[in-house]
Amino acid sequence: MQLAVCPGSFDPLHNGHVEIVARASNLFDEVIVAISPNMHKNPMFSVQERMDMARETFSYVRGVSVKPLGSGLLTEFCKEVGANALVKGLRDPKDLAYESPMATMNRHLSGLETVFLAADGRYTHLSSTLVKEVHSLGGDVSEFVPRAVQRRLHERRRS
Ligand code: ADP
Repeated sequence: MQLAVCPGSFDPLHNGHVEIVARASNLFDEVIVAISPNMHKNPMFSVQERMDMARETFSYVRGVSVKPLGSGLLTEFCKEVGANALVKGLRDPKDLAYESPMATMNRHLSGLETVFLAADGRYTHLSSTLVKEVHSLGGDVSEFVPRAVQRRLHERRRS
């Protein structure tokens, strides 16, 4: 069985992430969306809230599950769950420059391969940071995020 891990902070999940996970699920028997605590940024949503939104979003996609990543090494997490590969989305050369040393390090640490999927042209401008920024300034981001995230953002605005 081929198992992939899609790691990230997903704070919050947006349609660029959803598309990468859906494509990964066509390539692998199982995909785990692994949600990191995002300790360096100041997260908008707790890990539990991000997991709830991701679980609701991917409940319709066969073979996809959602787990918290914890604060340890990603390669250890992958060993524990028995993953064959990491899957990452690449928007632009900056993503590639950031991701390739990590991919090489992970391969040296544990032999784990990273599969890069080119972001779909419809989503190359999307990042969680931009979604949060537009939302915080009163903009409508509903076309960029799945329904479960739309609802949470709406609740945040009202509270
Ligand atoms: P962000 O950069 O949006 O804060 P995350 O840390 O949550 O992203 O990213 C998780 C994974 O999703 C990474 O592999 C990242 O490259 C990928 N990703 C982020 N945004 C997009 C996008 N718009 N299209 C495709 N992949 C993306």
